[in-house]
Amino acid sequence: MSFAELGLSEELVLAVRDAGYTVPTPIQVQAIPLVLKGADLFAGAQTGTGKTAGFALPILERLRHTPERARAPRALILAPTRELAAQIDASFKVYGKYLKLTSTAVFGGVGINPQIDLLRRGVDIVVATPGRLLDLCGQRMIDLTRIETVVLDEADRMLDMGFIHDITRILALLPKKRQSLLFSATFSDEIRQLAAKFLDHPESIEVARRNSTVEIIEQVAHPVDRERKRELLVHLIEKHNWFQILVFTRTKHGANRLAEQLQKSGIPALAIHGNKSQGARTRALGEFKSASLRVLVATDIAARGIDISELPVVVNFELPQVAEDYIHRIGRTGRAGAGGNAVALVCIDEKGLLADIERLTKTQIPLEIVPGFEPDPRIKAEPLQKQRGAAPRPRQGTPRPQAARAGGKEARSNATRTNAEPARLAPAPKPLHGDKTDKASPRPKPGSAPRRFGHR
Ligand code: AMP
Repeated sequence: MSFAELGLSEELVLAVRDAGYTVPTPIQVQAIPLVLKGADLFAGAQTGTGKTAGFALPILERLRHTPERARAPRALILAPTRELAAQIDASFKVYGKYLKLTSTAVFGGVGINPQIDLLRRGVDIVVATPGRLLDLCGQRMIDLTRIETVVLDEADRMLDMGFIHDITRILALLPKKRQSLLFSATFSDEIRQLAAKFLDHPESIEVARRNSTVEIIEQVAHPVDRERKRELLVHLIEKHNWFQILVFTRTKHGANRLAEQLQKSGIPALAIHGNKSQGARTRALGEFKSASLRVLVATDIAARGIDISELPVVVNFELPQVAEDYIHRIGRTGRAGAGGNAVALVCIDEKGLLADIERLTKTQIPLEIVPGFEPDPRIKAEPLQKQRGAAPRPRQGTPRPQAARAGGKEARSNATRTNAEPARLAPAPKPLHGDKTDKASPRPKPGSAPRRFGHR
């Protein structure tokens, strides 16, 4: 199957060829013809599958057939974070470079006036985060009455971030007769409700198993004492000679502290999170992409929208509070067909979180003790929460705490777990992941206690 066979015109086929794409990815094969014929879409696609081109190419194709000097935008893409919005806008520009259509991104955290100027000049496609878009609507700086296609990208993440009311308000401003596309990596009841409410007889497509991790990603979890995680991270970076490592922490403070500590150990590292200015984030990302920065430490929200293909390693320095975030995190590696490694450093306090992830992804992540970092069996699990303003961790299937907008606080990252649930580690023993264990060091006997964190 080629891009031309999917019904895209020459200008678009040439542009994707320039971008180095030779064949469409599975989501593109499925989504492009459906979007071209005007259908609503309920699409399950994880990050890294090529989903952006899956909606951007047919939107450009449809708009090019009705060219007009746009006084009001005709396609609207809603995204959870500024980075993702900027990324999607950049993709529209890449794919639409041989067309006369224009696009722009509007998001918070930067001045609104330059965005207003661009909108005044007229654009065909607007990519927006919900909060800033509503600000612009409130100031009557954008007219949404001519939107023909709306995309809710990473809809699960937008709901996680508490955007449901903003989304509802925005959708109410759009024409009733329109095409609506919803993309989500995971399918919760809330996502299904959103789809039922806003999509009209949608076509459903899905390219990865529901709530599953991308299979080409090799996953491993290293049990380690909570106080030795940083030391283990440095050890792993040096032992494997890793470059371009994306490291996740739960909190902004944790991200800052870890980046500083890594730098002190001689490893170039920077943190990105919601408290950093847009300029600082863009700089850090730029350095990371150009590989002059070895480690980027990020919180979940800041990491959304980072598009670096074939990122070799993602490290979960701390497991996420919400299991779905694990899927998003490790989706940063193994993108568009390239393999990758997802490494988690798991202390005894996080056993419950690991079990949640394994339950959600229906996989058991191999546990490997790194020689020299064996967990101390005397250390007892502690509740993960020692931070101020802590909120209880949401259970699966219950509504998430309302978080601040993408441009602002990262309330969910700061939510902390109140119940350490030390007894919830999956009981089934499983063999160690042979290839990855340090051969030079003694390995626990197969089946002896491979899923153990320190309680002997
Ligand atoms: P996305 O899932 O939209 O974030 O895309 C992930 C990555 O895959 C991006 O770096 C895209 O540039 C790249 N990509 C998208 N479609 C293709 C394709 N057909 N062939 C190769 N790479 C692609």
